[in-house]
Amino acid sequence: MFTLTGTGIGRGIAIGRALIWDRSRSAIPNYRLQKNEINQEISRFSHAITLVRSELKHVQDNLPDSAPPETAAFIDVHLMMLDDPVLSEQPLASIAEHQINAEWSLQNHSNTLISFFDNISDPYLRTKREDVAQVVDRIMDILIRSDSDTHKLTDNIDQVLNDQIIVARDISPADAIRLRQRHLSAFVTSLGGPISHTAILARSLAIPAIVGLHDVTRSIRNNDYLIVDAASGALIVAPDDETLEFFKSARESQRLRQNELSKLRKVHPVTADGQPIKLLANIELPEDLDTFKDSGASGVGLYRTEFLFMNRENLPSEEEQYNAYCHVLQSVDDPVTIRTLDLGADKQVDGGRKEPKVSMTPALGLRAIRLCLSEPSLFKPQLRAIFRAAQFGQARIMIPMLSSLQELEQTLAIIREVCGELDRDGLSFNANLPIGGMIEVPAAAISADLFASKLDFLSIGTNDLIQYTLAIDRVDDTVNYLYDPLHPSVLRLIQNIIRAGEDAQIPVAMCGEMAGDPNFTRLLLGLGLREFSMEPSQLLEIRQQVLTSCTADLIELAGQILNSSDSHTSHRLLDTLNAGSGV
Ligand code: PEP
Ligand code: MG
Repeated sequence: MFTLTGTGIGRGIAIGRALIWDRSRSAIPNYRLQKNEINQEISRFSHAITLVRSELKHVQDNLPDSAPPETAAFIDVHLMMLDDPVLSEQPLASIAEHQINAEWSLQNHSNTLISFFDNISDPYLRTKREDVAQVVDRIMDILIRSDSDTHKLTDNIDQVLNDQIIVARDISPADAIRLRQRHLSAFVTSLGGPISHTAILARSLAIPAIVGLHDVTRSIRNNDYLIVDAASGALIVAPDDETLEFFKSARESQRLRQNELSKLRKVHPVTADGQPIKLLANIELPEDLDTFKDSGASGVGLYRTEFLFMNRENLPSEEEQYNAYCHVLQSVDDPVTIRTLDLGADKQVDGGRKEPKVSMTPALGLRAIRLCLSEPSLFKPQLRAIFRAAQFGQARIMIPMLSSLQELEQTLAIIREVCGELDRDGLSFNANLPIGGMIEVPAAAISADLFASKLDFLSIGTNDLIQYTLAIDRVDDTVNYLYDPLHPSVLRLIQNIIRAGEDAQIPVAMCGEMAGDPNFTRLLLGLGLREFSMEPSQLLEIRQQVLTSCTADLIELAGQILNSSDSHTSHRLLDTLNAGSGV
């Protein structure tokens, strides 16, 4: 048994078998063998060498007449390399001596050989390094394919996963979407941070996950028995009986608690001192409507429309987008906040667009409203679809990543243009939609009053607001440790946005992950937030926090946290707030 620790997403516990999902060969499996597995591993390695040799001989014997004369000589060189003891014998000895798997052993020895060639001064001989690499690659391919234990999900992500735990280097938002409906019980990844879109999707799937588990694909084998404890971020590999029993009973307690919480679904979210609070849901695809309905949310606070653009060769047409929005609006009796496309950054899907532009720092590049303004042919069909669909429900439109008023004015001008065009085309539509903006760039947060004077509502996107305020790439696990919603700069910006909304008498919601974290509910209530939008799986927990909070009692401590200058004190005060102000 051993434990790896990363950043947990959610609080759930999953117990199941590992399924390594490795799209590339970048993660060569490294694992230790039991004594009784050594002989089998040695034969696996020898068999791979024999196969590569016979493949090469076959190619050599069947060279077409048109092949360049040096081809046979190249193949000879590869055959000679296969016979070199560094590749064919020494790995065998290491397998036995260090009790390591064949791939790991081969990798160690090939690294030695490659660095030997790298250090040769003769330029011609140095080029032989490539030959070594090619031969090693071929052996490695065969080994990885031959690992009888290995059931790789290389391309067939669409299979039903039967409660397995996916172990991957990374899962893109597009792949995470494909993992829906596959019945996986958890996933763990080497990369990723707590507010990466992959993590957000884990929350939306309501499954536990751990991200930022460096090199996890190398430390785990297919079918290893795993426990994922998202609350602590611990991944326990090959647990002993006692540990397994402990987590099974913890999982059962969680299930019972969830049953208890579900009784709150229909209870109106009003604080103990009578403040009505809006609890809304974030959705990514129309398929999320079932979980939305189960959550008891009183509307959709964020519909991330860009997910319709993923995993496909062509852009969705205006008609397809129109149908998707109609479906959502007709299924929800409450307001639905449709966010216009937020493509770019870690959602680099081209949706059929040719050569999407990827900058060196994509989070600061052409993303969200910037991309839409620069590509009207992408933006206008979406706007047309939204305004047409808006006849069938309570639609609101929300613009992501605004950073200047000019952008807002340009957007409003395009909206007017689109409505004019719809009119000329004789299509029926509803032009009277509330238009809101996401405040998620510090520039917009600082001048929230200016935006509030021109918009019908604001929504605080804390995921990006924290990313940009603290200068931490939300998908870079090496800077996860700096992610801190309690940072005074973040709290001051949040307060500034809430105040701007109050002054302009327009509603302010929060739709970033912070809104769905029960640790922060009371703090946010104390700062004056009254609308929370989150992944549906979080809603019951937050509802419970709301029902047991008395806002009048929260204001003073929330103010102290806002004014605290050191993180330790802020966390201590938050604990006091969460422990003491319940009713
Ligand atoms: C945010 O940035 O907080 C947000 C809700 O939007 P997204 O996570 O999709 O960027
Ligand atoms: Mg955002």
